[in-house]
Amino acid sequence: MALRNIRVMGDEILTKVCRPVKENTPKIQQLIDDMFDTMYDAYGVGLAAPQVGILKRIVVIDTDDNPMVLINPEIIETSGEQTGQEGCLSVPGKSGEVTRPNYVKVRALDRDFHEIIVEGEELLARAICHECEHLDGHLYVEKVNGELMDTPDSDYMEEE
Ligand code: ZN
Repeated sequence: MALRNIRVMGDEILTKVCRPVKENTPKIQQLIDDMFDTMYDAYGVGLAAPQVGILKRIVVIDTDDNPMVLINPEIIETSGEQTGQEGCLSVPGKSGEVTRPNYVKVRALDRDFHEIIVEGEELLARAICHECEHLDGHLYVEKVNGELMDTPDSDYMEEE
């Protein structure tokens, strides 16, 4: 198990656009394992590579004991709307209300570099949107309705 340092808001790396992953290498597999370890250690349900300082288009998500790797993800369909509290491991101790699509369909590569299509609703849809935005250098705080709030135990993406 290898934990990586989670970058926090203010770190310039979180504002950069990440590069597509072109080749599956042992280094990429190690990064994915470390991202899962780091996410679970921090009680998160999603983590994007730039949050551990790597500017590659890789996301890991686990919203319901269903670990998922999305490499070079592309959201190809969205519908509906949901409004709820959202947080981010890179913005510790804060949360805010964000409106997102209630359904998303995403095309990506899995960790074996096979193309997959993933559909998500509710929390999973929220997590996919949130993590994909990290890959383009955006944080959810840009989308918060009203003010960011202090959350004492920094619950990540708690449903309303
Ligand atoms: Zn985040």
